[in-house]
This record gives sequence, structure tokens and C-alpha cells, in this order.
Amino acid sequence: MNNRQLFLSHLAQTTDFPLLIEIEKAEGVYMYGAHGEKYIDLISGIGVSNVGHRHPKVLSAIHEQLDKYLHLMVYGEYVQSPQTLLAKALSDTLPSSLNNVYLVNSGSEAVEGALKLAKRYTNRREIISCVNAYHGSSQGALSIGGNEIFKRSYRPLLPGVRNIEFGSIAQLTHITTDTAAIILETVQGEAGIRIADSSYFQALRRRCDETGTLLVLDEIQAGFGRTGKFWAFEHYGIVPDILVCAKGMGGGMPIGAFIADKEVMAVFKNNPLLGHITTFGGHPVSAAASLATIKVILEERLIEEVDNKAELFKSLLIHPRIKGIRNKGLMMAVEFDSFDVLKPIIDHAIANGVITDWFLFCDDAMRIAPPLTISNDQIKEACDIILRAIDQA
Ligand code: PMP
Repeated sequence: MNNRQLFLSHLAQTTDFPLLIEIEKAEGVYMYGAHGEKYIDLISGIGVSNVGHRHPKVLSAIHEQLDKYLHLMVYGEYVQSPQTLLAKALSDTLPSSLNNVYLVNSGSEAVEGALKLAKRYTNRREIISCVNAYHGSSQGALSIGGNEIFKRSYRPLLPGVRNIEFGSIAQLTHITTDTAAIILETVQGEAGIRIADSSYFQALRRRCDETGTLLVLDEIQAGFGRTGKFWAFEHYGIVPDILVCAKGMGGGMPIGAFIADKEVMAVFKNNPLLGHITTFGGHPVSAAASLATIKVILEERLIEEVDNKAELFKSLLIHPRIKGIRNKGLMMAVEFDSFDVLKPIIDHAIANGVITDWFLFCDDAMRIAPPLTISNDQIKEACDIILRAIDQA
């Protein structure tokens, strides 16, 4: 059997339409196939490789850490400098109230931790989230997800969860003094890039303050420069009580975090009511990679060009079959008529050397979320290929 057959036989599948590309190597914005193909990666492993694949500074941080130690002890016992310096570097990118970092392994775990923290801190049980939200696949994260089709086979899920419309100021009245937290993506990702305006976020912040509800922002997809600010909430003039991040955080290594004020996070250390425990959370190699990733984003000024690059995509992706483009920085959704139209376009783009994808909850839009390091020439080449793929499909 070849590798593709082994993949289909032995690796559990999560979709009827796996991209099925066999990659040998990846570097910068390029991925290289096992049969000599060269691809421009326009999805960054779903919003992960913001600094490009195998950024040299991330690689050397990983190598240095490999020479020191791997796992030593469960999270939060030993003083491990990659974790400590990472927590400080994250705090330095954030307002002073987000100064305490809990490191985990993934986005879903960060969401779970944030929900537990909100319940514990407020001593309330109700969680509000948004229609069409995606916060992960673990049971808690699934429970607060906003897509019924994804959830229905797994009931009963967490009780006390309610979905409201993302962006609706009128529906903020559902947040009451019984609500522990409202969690939302600052920019909805899997819904196909849905954007709310500043007045919504400000009304949301006010409602949370009035009711003593914690505002949890999930920036697992939108953080680390993706939207043209280091954190997407910076666009809206508000600060969350808990911030959740992962994906782009590790520069290609698995790591996540939930971040809050030290006084909020302190409830987790009140024995004997155990807080949140993780064996591998903030793995030293991932933490070293993450610290290097933050330095690359800041030192290489990757965020400054995000909006210009997004505008270049928008000016080039003009075609009668493209109905519109929704975006916040380089978090983009290119709208078509239907999945039946979109699927062959994606297949042709891949065959011609550009990797794009669809979204979980929006099947008529093409996902574009390239490494922030993509050059203007690479954008032009990728857009030419997409336009050709539309004509071929
Ligand atoms: N929240 C958002 C907004 C996401 O996009 C994702 C992943 N697509 C998650 C949470 C879950 O992250 P993970 O897959 O690392 O558990």
C-alpha cells in the first residue's frame, strides 16, 4: 500500500473530503509534495503558521530547547524558563489586566480552562455563547459551539448553555446576573469570517460590567497578528476578562493559553478545590517556539503589512463568480454561490499549486489565511492560480 492508501485505511478520518496531499517539506509560504509538487499555502495549517513554516528563529529556539530538556514535570510546579519568559512576553503584548497566563496544549483545552475559571470565579453556572461559534471539539467546547448539526449526536452536553446572535446588541439582555461568562470569537472564523462592529463590543463590555459576567474572547484563530493587530480585540477598544489563544501562538508547535488577571486566576490555587491540571500544558519546546514566534511577529513587523496584503488579495480576486470577500486583515472568506461551485475550484487551485480550504459552518466561501510573511509577488501568483481555477471549474 502507498502512503495515501495507508492514510485512508489506518488513520481515523474526520471528513469526507480530506485534501489528501502528501507533503514532504514546508518552508515559509511553500509546501513541497512527495511527488515534486510545490504549493503556496494560503491557509497556514488553519491559521497556525502566521510566521511561515519552519521560521529559522523558531527552529533555532526549538533546537536550543531540545538540547536542554523536554518534559520535566506537570504544569505549574518547576520554574521552567521557556514557560516563564513566554508568560511575560504574552503579558507584554496585553493590557495590564491580562497579566496571568495559564499554558495548555491546544485551543479546545484553553477554552475548557477558561470556562472552568469563569464558573469558579463567579460561582455561577450559566454560559452564553454565539450562534455559529466554533470553540473546539472537546465536550465543553462543543457544548458552547453554535452549530446544532455538530452537537446533536453528542447530547446530553453541558447544561446551562445558551447561544445568542453574534453582533446583536438587542440580544445582550440574555446576559444576566446568573451568567458566569459570555464567550465569543472576536472575529468568527468557522462561520466564514463574520465581523461585528465596535458599538457591539462596547455594549457587550458594558453589559458584562453591569451583570458581573466575565467576557471571554476566543482569539485562537484571530490572535497573533492575523487580523492586522496583535490581538483582534484591539480593533474594538475593549479588553476581555479572559483571553483564549492557541494556533498561531506556537509557530507550528502545539500550545495554547487562557489569560486573565492574577486575582481572577488565583481562584485556581485555593486548595482543596483543585483548579485545572495539565501534564503537558506549556511544553518547554512549544513554549520556546512560541516565545520565538512572538519575537518574530514583533521584530519583523509582520502586522504592519497585513491590511495592505489583504487589500491586494481583494483587488486581485475579481471574477464574475466571486460574490464578495469578507475579511478582517488576513482572515478572509471569498464568497461563491454554493459548495458545489466551490469544491471544484478548490480542487483545481490545489492541482495548480495553491492550497485553500472551506469553513466548517459556511460551505459557500473559500478560506484564505496565508502566513503573514507572504510577499506581494506570492499573493499575485496565488491569485492568478485561483482565478484560473475558477475558469477551469
Ligand atoms: N476556537 C477557535 C476560534 C478555533 O478556530 C479553533 C480551531 N479551529 C478552536 C477554538 C479549537 O482549537 P483546537 O483545534 O486547537 O482545539
